[in-house]
Amino acid sequence: MLPLSDTIVAIATAIVPQQGSIGIVRLSGAKAVAIARCLFVAPGKQPWDSHRILYGHIRDPMTQEQVDEALLLLMLAPRSYTREDVVEFHCHGGMIPVQRVVQLCVAAGARLAEPGEFTLRAFLNGRLDLTQAESVAELVAAQSTAAARIALAGLEGKLARPLKQLRQTCLALLAEIEARLDFADDLPPLDAGAIAEQIHHVQRQVEQLLATAEGGQLLRTGLKVAIVGRPNVGKSSLLNAWSRCDRAIVTDLPGTTRDIVESQLVVGGIPIQVLDTAGIRVTENVVEQLGVERSRQAALSADIVLFVLDASQGWTAADQEIYDQLKLAERRQQSPNAVLMVANKEDLLPAAANCHDLHLPMAPIPTVFLSALTQTGINHLETAILDLVHGHNLHAANLEFALNQRQAALLQHVQHSLTHVLQAIDEQLPLDFWTIDLHAAVRALGTLTGEDVTESVLEQIFSRFCIGK
Ligand code: GDP
Ligand code: ZN
Repeated sequence: MLPLSDTIVAIATAIVPQQGSIGIVRLSGAKAVAIARCLFVAPGKQPWDSHRILYGHIRDPMTQEQVDEALLLLMLAPRSYTREDVVEFHCHGGMIPVQRVVQLCVAAGARLAEPGEFTLRAFLNGRLDLTQAESVAELVAAQSTAAARIALAGLEGKLARPLKQLRQTCLALLAEIEARLDFADDLPPLDAGAIAEQIHHVQRQVEQLLATAEGGQLLRTGLKVAIVGRPNVGKSSLLNAWSRCDRAIVTDLPGTTRDIVESQLVVGGIPIQVLDTAGIRVTENVVEQLGVERSRQAALSADIVLFVLDASQGWTAADQEIYDQLKLAERRQQSPNAVLMVANKEDLLPAAANCHDLHLPMAPIPTVFLSALTQTGINHLETAILDLVHGHNLHAANLEFALNQRQAALLQHVQHSLTHVLQAIDEQLPLDFWTIDLHAAVRALGTLTGEDVTESVLEQIFSRFCIGK
């Protein structure tokens, strides 16, 4: 484990060359103030008080060379993010001065922080439990307001509180049972029914928490959607129309490859990465085969494939060829919700059309009519996508908080162990059998909150953080 005795330093803000107007260098640890005093010259009579801003210059103590003009924010333990002495230099945002400040801090005795090390210290020093620490990383990574909101709820302890309570309940039950193992003669007999009832109660709460995991996963990682179809059916027009309709566009990544255009949208609170496989063309030409190959990869990697066809022409042989090339029939067998038909150019149809008019050869398949040209029906497309992913009637965007995958896996473990306890009670097995699985449940809950956690678990969690957090 990384030693807590070191004073650590990192750039705490995102640094983009020649952009950004402030860059923050953060120091944390016992030597933070001494290092700051060694580098920072504050003119006049500015007191080095906690939670005050000082104005001055950072200079190289060896050469007296001035490195940057900066503000200094002092946050003395325990009133800081890490509960240690923390100093922040708010520098002009250029790469060069900010990196020089870091180097000077290292020369003065600090060590470069590992990813997540500030938050790790906040956890180790008891300021955050493990679910709160994980929420910090989730907040940084959030790609939609809904994802940010559940991360913030986690940071505020909305997840930690019920989990700690469940662990306390299990610990109390364990104590009650283990007392019978040790002092059977001095205590009234166990009320097995009452214990089983309490365990059922815990299981019901665990079930409710687990129900948030799937929606949380959607909000965090979002969905990948691939737009496929033969040339000229309107794939690119659809992506353009969709991007324009959706006011919550996050980014627009122009052609990552020659043949695939990506866009980021947010639909119903869920971040959606849309891949437009503009290059697809069924052909013998080797170069163009590459385009088909990329489309196939995109379709394979997508959670949902939007198969675009021209509604005014209905299903054609060329549509069928691409449908076969992409093996979409097989795909639907594995996951029935993976393919959505998009009948574009609805504006060319004489009257309200329905699926029968398209003469689709396959078994009933979810189909949306729209017009990319007139930008009508995009809302139907979004509703259809949400219907496909909300198979279990969950409303991800309305979640108050949500488990992440690690937490869900542990809670499933808790649930499993508690079921074993109930079996042991039911089968009137000796008390040791009850306590083995109850111990396992308590341990899993402790790994969740961090009250009982190994170094390797911590390493796994914090290595995913960015540096400076
Ligand atoms: P892609 O090759 O599948 O990407 O198709 P494009 O988006 O380039 O569109 C091909 C042609 O169809 C263009 O001339 C578009 O203007 C036209 N188009 C696209 N969507 C519609 C639509 O909804 N209605 C009509 N009438 N034309 C459309
Ligand atoms: Zn089992």
